[in-house]
Amino acid sequence: MKRNAMVDVMVKKAAREVIKNPDKALPRGLKLVESLDRKKVNARTYEALHTVLDDPDNNWNIFLHNIFSNVAPESLEKLSVSLVLNAAMESYNKRMENVKKYDCNIPWAILMDPTAACNLKCTGCWAAEYGKNASLPYDVMEKVIREGTELGVYTYIFSGGEPLVRKEELIQLCDSHPECIFLAFTNGTLVDEAFAKELRRVGNFGLAFSIEGFEEETDMRRGAGTYQAVIRAMDLLKAEGVAFGFSTCYHSKNVDCVGSDAYVDFMIEKGCLFGWYFTYIPVGVDAVPELIATAEQREFMYHQMRKWRQTKPAFLLDFWNDGEYTLGCIAGGRNYFHINAAGECEPCAFIHYANVNIKDCSLLEALQSPLFMEYHRGQPFNQNHLRPCPLLDNPHCLREMVERSGAHSTEMLSPEPVEQLTSKTQAASEAWGPVADRIWEDPNEPKYASRSRLYHQKADGSPMEDSPEDTAAAPEDTDISAN
Ligand code: SF4
Repeated sequence: MKRNAMVDVMVKKAAREVIKNPDKALPRGLKLVESLDRKKVNARTYEALHTVLDDPDNNWNIFLHNIFSNVAPESLEKLSVSLVLNAAMESYNKRMENVKKYDCNIPWAILMDPTAACNLKCTGCWAAEYGKNASLPYDVMEKVIREGTELGVYTYIFSGGEPLVRKEELIQLCDSHPECIFLAFTNGTLVDEAFAKELRRVGNFGLAFSIEGFEEETDMRRGAGTYQAVIRAMDLLKAEGVAFGFSTCYHSKNVDCVGSDAYVDFMIEKGCLFGWYFTYIPVGVDAVPELIATAEQREFMYHQMRKWRQTKPAFLLDFWNDGEYTLGCIAGGRNYFHINAAGECEPCAFIHYANVNIKDCSLLEALQSPLFMEYHRGQPFNQNHLRPCPLLDNPHCLREMVERSGAHSTEMLSPEPVEQLTSKTQAASEAWGPVADRIWEDPNEPKYASRSRLYHQKADGSPMEDSPEDTAAAPEDTDISAN
């Protein structure tokens, strides 16, 4: 059913009030959003926000104030519809209806590579394995977004290659789809004043800057001068009131630096509203398996992330160690999937296998392709959600899924057999398993109670046969802001 246009008008009006005086209007605005969320999809988020708003020193309270002081008012007004109403609320209801209707995963976000071309050559970069020549035609990206919104997908993320090689066309997509939100992972080197102004004008496009630590660590992996380019780009976006964050790959050589309080504090000081951590995955023939973080380093990041969530005013995520908030792996269209620059539909940016190409099929056909259906049936890949990944934590799962589905390698330069890929993560998975189990089963862990319920829960939150329904965790237990 199409939403009444009056709802959008009311929400924008409420957003204007909040922007004018957040301290007064935030509690009132929250009340309005709650009343519109009839199914109470985000009930735990509201509860957490109520607690936050009462304490001016709370890190999430400071985070909210940073949003209002860092992001341009006209962008916030647009985001009240595209992000809050569409991506956070309407998306869930539409997707769940379509999951039932089509019996497959329907994602919250789609990651697309507009181009494989990049102006840098970073050590161990998985994107380099695709070659440099492929690019997604504009019409194909447009088709993905059109079909995606029909299914309930309002979030589109660009990676690459360097997506800003095609920045004019990305701006055009943002202009054509004001109902959606867009984000690009970028090395920052192609951001200039004119582009920062365009980002402000469209108001629904943010950037996640790839950065590997301070100057020495970043330039070691990404090349001399890259760090300074990122810092300059952050300054340009902050001056224009554009939302941005950082994206950091932690590995065996930089974990002390990027896992330090000083690093996160500096990113927040530069204006980052969010920070996404990825661990190094040895994808491709040029991968450097020695860069995989050790079990001790991964545990260190686990504890740092949980400490930061109580203390730092930024939305921080660690994609592997935060599996318990999403009930395991989010790939294969469960929450997201990846379309590479050649159009191959892969379950995840790190899983370079596919059965279909988006140039030859509909979005729905891609979601129903054999490898995606293997994910749909197999998730979660481990009942311990601190071991979510079918490649890094459960390599036998990926081997079996690729073999059963008959998916082909999508790496254009040197196709990598799945046995070769998974052999590189076997040792890391064996080292992490006992550590993850110890943490998961530790009764002193703050989330222990909900974990023992999660053991009896399927990836979609429904109870396993051996679990009484009334003890199963509600889907809101996946709400990261409630931590
Ligand atoms: S396949 Fe692994 S890396 Fe990809 S979303 Fe799932 S857990 Fe994360």
